[in-house]
Amino acid sequence: MVTLIRLADSATYQHHRQVVERLRFAGLPVREHGPHLLSVTVQVAGDAREPADVLANHPQVAEVTHLSVDHPQVASEAVPEHNSTVTVGTTVIGANGFVVIAGPCAVESRDQMLTTCHAVSDAGAHILRGGLYKPRTSPYGFQGMGQSGFSLADEARAETGLPLITEIVDVRDIDDLGDHVDMVQVGARNMQNFALLRELGRSRIPVLLKRGLAATIDEVLLAAEYLLDGGNDQVVLCERGIRTYERAYRFTLDITAVPVLQERTHLPVIVDPSHAAGATRWVEPLALAAAAVGADGILVETHCDPAAALCDGKQALRTEALPGLIERLAVATSAAGRTMLPQPERMSATQVAAAAG
Ligand code: PEP
Ligand code: MN
Repeated sequence: MVTLIRLADSATYQHHRQVVERLRFAGLPVREHGPHLLSVTVQVAGDAREPADVLANHPQVAEVTHLSVDHPQVASEAVPEHNSTVTVGTTVIGANGFVVIAGPCAVESRDQMLTTCHAVSDAGAHILRGGLYKPRTSPYGFQGMGQSGFSLADEARAETGLPLITEIVDVRDIDDLGDHVDMVQVGARNMQNFALLRELGRSRIPVLLKRGLAATIDEVLLAAEYLLDGGNDQVVLCERGIRTYERAYRFTLDITAVPVLQERTHLPVIVDPSHAAGATRWVEPLALAAAAVGADGILVETHCDPAAALCDGKQALRTEALPGLIERLAVATSAAGRTMLPQPERMSATQVAAAAG
């Protein structure tokens, strides 16, 4: 049983210490999650005192909430309005604006990366994507350009002024990637790589956490809890399709997961229609479904020449198709009570140089 204790906005550091000491004195195992949020977890009910009683009438305690979940920090109750936002470069995800993240599955060459990123930027997208390290099912598949692609990431960000997300597959790459990108993606295959989650929790780089191929909603939330527990609250969840008995398409997009996650967590939730569809022609209908169901955005693979792509070309949207998709997404997202986010202010050369990490 977890009890969340929220202190008043006016609470000072001294008030915070006072509340912590009072709870500890009563034998309660208090954890500090930030200047205004504390939690007490009591495993076995017994003679442990109720935190609410211990803190009765404390003027600086704004709220005491009992949660019956084991992921107190990602639970919606953990933030006052039940919604948090994540800032990636100059783009804010989760503030009622629908965000489009687009770009190639993998960074392949200077020409491919820059041509695609310019088109994505001109189409009105908010964040660029491009994998430098690819977790491939086969060891013989293209594994990504790795470090030799860092300068292409720098160029794409500098030329478009848009932030960039890339996938991280190895805990040893955190610092390097933090110098070249604005957000890292923990892919479906690494959702339960707990060592990676722990280290990313200690870092301050925004994280896009994708749902594992066979992960339940609870497992996704617990994976996100690892990140928040380390102190990194810049986390976005991504539904990208799960493995079911159905073989007619790549994965089964669990659209129901979007409202369910939004109810259970304050973290923004986006959808990846590309990996679920596995074929370009199904990407748009799934993207529109994501907008209509109320997601906070999409992550869509887009390529200037899908037929020549080294990775996931079969599901890539041609860059020419992106402006039309964004136009139709604006309609679908407004039906769900949201608005298409205006394109962000372009990052300045200084912001680009000082990457988010
Ligand atoms: C990707 O985004 O290219 C990717 C590998 O995604 P996922 O982890 O969802 O398969
Ligand atoms: Mn891909």
